[in-house]
Amino acid sequence: MEFELRAVPKPKHKRFKRTAKQRGQITSDVYDKALERSGGYCERCGKGGYLECAHLIRRWKVEVETTVNDVAMLCGPSVNTGTCHNLIDYTANGKAWAEKYREQLYKRAKESEG
Ligand SMILES: [Zn+2]
Repeated sequence: MEFELRAVPKPKHKRFKRTAKQRGQITSDVYDKALERSGGYCERCGKGGYLECAHLIRRWKVEVETTVNDVAMLCGPSVNTGTCHNLIDYTANGKAWAEKYREQLYKRAKESEG
């Protein structure tokens, strides 16, 4: 009996729901926009220097994809206590700021749409 090797066709449908990792991914486009918005300064404390593109909400909470309104350029690194990226990831105050800031960003984006 001859065995025919046949490639399994790729499913035509898209994944019903993207994984949290995919939804949380910061594309270079989002990164560039965030950097442009920040002007090269931390969006929380205004400090220049080393900045990181930080999620303003938990990745798994992102519904479709991470937009520029879901992130902020913050001073880092996130592992260093006292940086803004560390603050929003690990402190209640920081998280509250991040949520508020995200709301402002979405509001601003809506307004600029007209
Ligand atoms: Zn900062």
